[in-house]
Amino acid sequence: MSVRIIVGAQWGDEGKGKIVDLLSHDADVVARYQGGPNAGHTVCYGDKSFVLHLIPSGILRPGTTCYIGNGVVIDLTALEEERSALTRQGIGVDGRLFVSGSAHLILPDHRLAERHNESGATGPTIGTTGRGIGPAYTDKASRMGLRVADLLDPEIREERVRMLRERTLRLVGRDAPVEPIERVLEGLARDAERLRPMVVNVSLAIASAIHDRKRILLEGAQGTHLDLDHGTYPFVTSSSAVAGGACTGVGVGPTLIDEVIGVAKAYATRVGNGPFPSELSGELAEQLREEGNEYGATTGRPRRCGWFDAVAIRHAARVNGLTQLVITKLDVLDGLPEISVVTAYSINGRRIQEMPESLAELNAAEPILETFPGWRAPTGAARQWDDLPREARRYLDRLEELARVPIRLVSVGSGRDENVRRHANLRSTEAVGR
Ligand code: GDP
Repeated sequence: MSVRIIVGAQWGDEGKGKIVDLLSHDADVVARYQGGPNAGHTVCYGDKSFVLHLIPSGILRPGTTCYIGNGVVIDLTALEEERSALTRQGIGVDGRLFVSGSAHLILPDHRLAERHNESGATGPTIGTTGRGIGPAYTDKASRMGLRVADLLDPEIREERVRMLRERTLRLVGRDAPVEPIERVLEGLARDAERLRPMVVNVSLAIASAIHDRKRILLEGAQGTHLDLDHGTYPFVTSSSAVAGGACTGVGVGPTLIDEVIGVAKAYATRVGNGPFPSELSGELAEQLREEGNEYGATTGRPRRCGWFDAVAIRHAARVNGLTQLVITKLDVLDGLPEISVVTAYSINGRRIQEMPESLAELNAAEPILETFPGWRAPTGAARQWDDLPREARRYLDRLEELARVPIRLVSVGSGRDENVRRHANLRSTEAVGR
């Protein structure tokens, strides 16, 4: 039996989809614990490429049972589209994909509210994906949301939808174009019947899997620095992306977690607005963006690119209690003559080793860099630690030292088998959080 959490250690898009798929190879159960259809996990194998937004990446392994936990907000249209796309690609999901009755739904009114907010009408914009996720979480916290279990009850469903519509009209104006409420209700009635066989108590299902000594993966979306509490607030997502969010997001107690695996790129990216101290500009940023194909899987937006930020990773190691770090996209750095890492920040002339909480300080943070010679050789074919160029091994050793978390797995390409495993006895630093 084991319960492992997989969490993004940066600003999301770390390649968690590929790592979850890889680790699902020996998992019986995979559950998503937060976020909504704004996540875009891309998994490639053979000549196929799958983009998953809501359904756990573990679905691509035929023997795996997948759950969407109570911490996720669900857009039923997006879920149905994803289910159909998987079926068309030969991945059957029936009988092995289940949804928590306590998960909240994203309704057309949430999308409308988000578009309204992002137009600047209600304050500064965050650069969200415009899918209604923030408003759905807001309504969850203000106890106005519609949960999956309540969708199945016609009376509660109608009462909630009408209450939300009243609120939406107050927000956007009574003559704004909105989908007629009768049409929304008819659609939801159809959705309810389609969803009914998939609705379970995920907390109970996972407790039973633990009892049966099954191997369980809890999959996060976005990343630590987009977490509502521990990220660069207010430029964050609306949910708990950190490991603690896995416990509340599927209903499993912290004493049952065996491992917390952080995923980080060998450099850093961020999408949308907000502080990003290691950000690069000009040619170097462009090179990373092109080599790493740093465009959003959901929105196609170009991602901001920067160096690996060890300050940010230490923060992630601490708030998640990481027991190991997986480094992805090492191959993207193959052509660079020199590679830098942010080891600390300089803020108003002071050297700062840990992530500041103040937005003003973060905005003022200048990166302090350590620079390494690049390896200028392809790493994509490496499978053993010793196959990697010496400079690449040295780089990874230094990342491990700065992060204070052991690196056991390095991804060198998007394919399932493009990985370098590193045995524990090769070198390791004491894990944080143990
Ligand atoms: P996620 O949201 O954390 O799952 O990340 P994304 O799916 O948005 O981004 C990861 C992208 O990088 C996908 O297209 C992956 O196929 C790709 N990828 C993952 N690992 C590697 C790697 O080691 N090297 C390269 N070149 N691409 C990778």
